[in-house]
Amino acid sequence: MNRLLISTAASDRTFTRTGTRWIGKCLICNGNLNFDERTGVGANLEHIVPRSRGGTNDLANLGVTHPSCNAEKGRNWDSQRGRRKHTQEEYQALLDRLLQRRHERWLDAGTASHSHAPTKS
Ligand SMILES: [Zn+2]
Repeated sequence: MNRLLISTAASDRTFTRTGTRWIGKCLICNGNLNFDERTGVGANLEHIVPRSRGGTNDLANLGVTHPSCNAEKGRNWDSQRGRRKHTQEEYQALLDRLLQRRHERWLDAGTASHSHAPTKS
């Protein structure tokens, strides 16, 4: 799972790598976040559209978040057992906002130096 976490951070322009540490911003709260790529401790790999709703492991559907932010999202929105504080329409709007934010943070292929960037010929 760490590999996917690293790939996600590497495609997010808010993240920079220093040694084995990645420093960037949480997709949900936009607060500072850092994690060690050897353990993944300090970060959570977030499925923006949950797998229960048909979300995939595609990098565009993944974001790096604080573990607490992910838990909060799950409690408030995803869980069938949790108290529903929001309507389905509001939930969908949240997912759209997060997908949009992920898109805005996406590294331009031309500037990315990691292995996922297509090379220009
Ligand atoms: Zn957060």
